[in-house]
Amino acid sequence: MKGLYIDGAWVAPHGTDALDVLDPTTEQAIGAIRLGDAEDVDRAVRAAARAFPRWSRTPERERLGYVREIGRLVAAHADELTELIVADLGMPRAMAREAQVGAPAEIFMMAAELAEGLSVPSHPPGAAANTLVVREPAGVVGAITPWNFPLQEIAAKTAPALAVGCTVVVKPSEVVPLAALRLAELIDAAGLPAGVFNLVPGTGPVAGAALAAHPLIDLLSFTGSTATGSRVAEPAGRNVTKTALEMGGKSPCVLLDDASLEPAVRDTVTNAFFNSGQTCDALTRLLVPRTRLPEVEKLAVAAAEANTVGDPRDEDTTLGPLVSGRQLDRVRRYIDRGVAEGARLITGHRALPARGFFAGPAVFTEVPAGAAVASEEIFGPVLCVQAYDDEDEAVELADATPYGLSAAVWSADRERASRVARRIRAGQVHINGAGFDLGAPFGGFKHSGHGREGGRYGLEEFTQPKALLGGAET
Ligand code: NAD
Repeated sequence: MKGLYIDGAWVAPHGTDALDVLDPTTEQAIGAIRLGDAEDVDRAVRAAARAFPRWSRTPERERLGYVREIGRLVAAHADELTELIVADLGMPRAMAREAQVGAPAEIFMMAAELAEGLSVPSHPPGAAANTLVVREPAGVVGAITPWNFPLQEIAAKTAPALAVGCTVVVKPSEVVPLAALRLAELIDAAGLPAGVFNLVPGTGPVAGAALAAHPLIDLLSFTGSTATGSRVAEPAGRNVTKTALEMGGKSPCVLLDDASLEPAVRDTVTNAFFNSGQTCDALTRLLVPRTRLPEVEKLAVAAAEANTVGDPRDEDTTLGPLVSGRQLDRVRRYIDRGVAEGARLITGHRALPARGFFAGPAVFTEVPAGAAVASEEIFGPVLCVQAYDDEDEAVELADATPYGLSAAVWSADRERASRVARRIRAGQVHINGAGFDLGAPFGGFKHSGHGREGGRYGLEEFTQPKALLGGAET
């Protein structure tokens, strides 16, 4: 019950609403958060707007020193943050430590490194010889984040925003809020000037909607579902607020006919079920040459069934619970729907712990084209195998959803894999199992959104180019 972090201090919210936080493994309450409302959001945004002129003019060295200090503090508190995320989200401990805490610490460090010298004027090709361009901070950033990567999603916005000189108001997910509150304490300990970073926990329809509609926000950076993203873009559009929308996915993995099946299938299954399938870029559709379908089915079932479902605190667990009872209902509904649509469930029935929001790994095959189970984002451990007859059909199937966040291609010939990768409309394509790259641009085509996070591109998202005509001597 920490309250809200506004203008450099922990404060009580304007209202009295609070929300229990559940451990999805035990279904027990492990805490409660106080919920901010529109008045609290307004207070936070005004604090961020007041802090902006000074923060944006703070010498780069000093500003980046703060950002590095936050990264250092996150790394120094990795054990504690990991335990919070394991309890709040249900992700197995070793995975959570690396993906949910190690990565955010690195994001702060990387943003500080990449921002060095970013504000130095440059001469763009094609412009007059005496024209210079400088990168200016976008201004006050409103950040709305989801529950599936509760710290990383905040880091992906906050680190570059602070590094380039923006001030920030974060509305974290109310479903998994504990790590965000601890991060705010660490940012406070890093000694940032008041108002530069603010955190207003609250529900989406109240605090989130107020942030999206606030006229003093210069950039609304949203990560969440496509339905919510398009909702927040409406008021932002009316205020002519720039938006960056990181939204859902239904990402394909294309196995070409010369691919070595065993590593490709194993890697895809691991990816699809990572974080119990609650990952925006999960490779949830495995597209395979029709002639190899029986082999792939066997390998996929074996890889899925090799998972150990259970308490995320047990060393052997690879699949923890889903985040909530609501998410579990959603996944079960989709599995029933897949069966009703005529897809064949080849694994998915297994004994699960009696308590906790557990779903076993499920694999469908012979999924009819257009079936919801193969075109809508489920956000659970459900993989669909689909057969294709030639390369053109593989690309067509890969693109046959409204999404375009991520994809993968496997082939014995890297050139061929790259050629197919270039044809798929997605923001990222993993070739032959290449892993996630924090320094690469991440973001969507189509209904997966627009804007990019990560590395240099992610940093530039939080800036505006300004032309200084006649700024250079000729
Ligand atoms: P969600 O859309 O339900 O919620 C995301 C955030 O929006 C939360 O903070 C929520 O409180 C807030 N929100 C909800 N209604 C709102 C409203 N009316 N106005 C303003 N804010 C509102 O998403 P979720 O269930 O938390 O997260 C899962 C989704 O996030 C999936 O679709 C997943 O693909 C997506 N996601 C995308 C990326 C990416 O980088 N593309 C990364 C992680 C998650």
